Amino acid sequence: MHVELRKTFQFEAAHLLPRLPESHKCRRLHGHSFRAEIAVAGACDPDLGWLIDYAEITRRFKPLFEQLDHRYLNEVPGLDNPTSENIARWIWDRLKPRLPELTEVVVAETCTARCIYRG
Ligand SMILES: [Zn+2]
Repeated sequence: MHVELRKTFQFEAAHLLPRLPESHKCRRLHGHSFRAEIAVAGACDPDLGWLIDYAEITRRFKPLFEQLDHRYLNEVPGLDNPTSENIARWIWDRLKPRLPELTEVVVAETCTARCIYRG
């Protein structure tokens, strides 16, 4: 049985988008309650009845979460231009090696706007 699991993390962070014109609102320093959704997929273990422990996803994402939560994202190494797109790729690049089942990273900066990255 092939399954997909998703776990959502919320982190609070500030950023600005330095490559936009001064007149654009996202060029100004502001914050979001970001949501990062981590999707994993694979074969369900027939004995355990699950693919992976949700707590294991949390454990493997935690070092990245610590670098994002309550941070000024522009100061995080690799996130000098912290768009949702770049945040999603930043998470993917660091999480995939420690979570091979990873299939998708979703980063939402508002309730209505989100970016999906699949590597
Ligand atoms: Zn923003």
